Amino acid sequence: MTQIGSGNVRHRVTLPDGATVTMSWAAITDTGHRREVNEDSYVAQAPVFAVADGMGGHAAGDFASAAVVTRLAEYGGRPVIGTPEIDDALRLAVQDMDRVVGVTDEGSGTTVTGVALGEVAGEPAWLVFNIGDSRVYRLVGGVLEQLTVDHSVVQELVDAGQITRDEADTHPHSNVITRAVGFHEAPVPDYRAIAVEPGTRLLICSDGLTKELTSYGIRHFLVGGQKPERAAHDLVEAALGNGGRDNVTVLVVDVLAVTRPA
Ligand code: MG
Repeated sequence: MTQIGSGNVRHRVTLPDGATVTMSWAAITDTGHRREVNEDSYVAQAPVFAVADGMGGHAAGDFASAAVVTRLAEYGGRPVIGTPEIDDALRLAVQDMDRVVGVTDEGSGTTVTGVALGEVAGEPAWLVFNIGDSRVYRLVGGVLEQLTVDHSVVQELVDAGQITRDEADTHPHSNVITRAVGFHEAPVPDYRAIAVEPGTRLLICSDGLTKELTSYGIRHFLVGGQKPERAAHDLVEAALGNGGRDNVTVLVVDVLAVTRPA
């Protein structure tokens, strides 16, 4: 487990084109009740907010998730980054894994998902990125929307109409992902850009949350208007209360204000 950055109650960034974005955030991770080691890692510092869920024998998974968030954290303090910087960070993280864990073993890997503050056509934008089955959600006006699509066997079964979304959560292969960062392969993130708007709440989480709480349950802990730290804490406690079968990591980011140059 590697934790980079922590909470911030009011952080203002001035973007290159003159807009300002004010946000607050909080991150919490917990080993859970069943696992001996926490192989989740996160980075929670502007402009990057990301969660990585490592996998692999011995310390390999822990190293893999740490490598990804450490590389992403190297952009800390920049006002904005773009998809080339995210691509570079993930590629370097795979090189770190290959160098340290060794190329002769089965290797290690990790999921990664998150948001980075960027600019698209001169407007502030969140660049949402994902590899694996950790997730990003957005809450706007009380409506919770999953922004990422899992790279998993059960997602493929859902897409093919062979099982329902509800069945996916309890499917015996629900832990099998079809894309990862690591295993000696070039990482291939999915990207999408969304507007940076005041009143938006973003949730970035590992599957230790989404395997224990339905989207209805997740929404319940996000809608009350509590501060990010409280919402993150309540989500983790709920996941632990429902079994805590996996490491659980929760990162909540609120956009408080956006101003544009006159
Ligand atoms: Mg997990």
